[in-house]
Order: sequence, then structure tokens, then C-alpha cells
Amino acid sequence: MTVHVEKLGLPRDVFVTCPQCKKIYYIERLFYDPSYDHVKLHCPFCHHEFDKRDSPQVWGA
Ligand SMILES: [Zn+2]
Repeated sequence: MTVHVEKLGLPRDVFVTCPQCKKIYYIERLFYDPSYDHVKLHCPFCHHEFDKRDSPQVWGA
């Protein structure tokens, strides 16, 4: 039997809010890295593309 150990500390994903439809979804933490500042986030609900700095609320960043 394999024991799964939860990694404590930073969660793997970051939750963002779409500024257009206000729905919450998560993105890979990788995309929150400053080296991805030029990459637009894509909302899976309304397909709006936005800058991560335009997200009204962010959790886990
Ligand atoms: Zn949206």
C-alpha cells in the first residue's frame, strides 16, 4: 500500500477570478511566476483573456 504524503507549504495551484464573468478557477502555479507576466490567462467559462494583474481576487499566490 502506498502512502500519499501531502506536501505542506505552498499549494500547487493558484485560484484566480475572471474580471469579466467573476467566476473562480485555478491555474498552475507556474503561470503565476514573473517570467509568465506576458502570458494572458484564459477563462474556461467565458473565454475572456486577461492579465493576471486584472484578476479581482487571487488565492494561493
Ligand atoms: Zn470569465
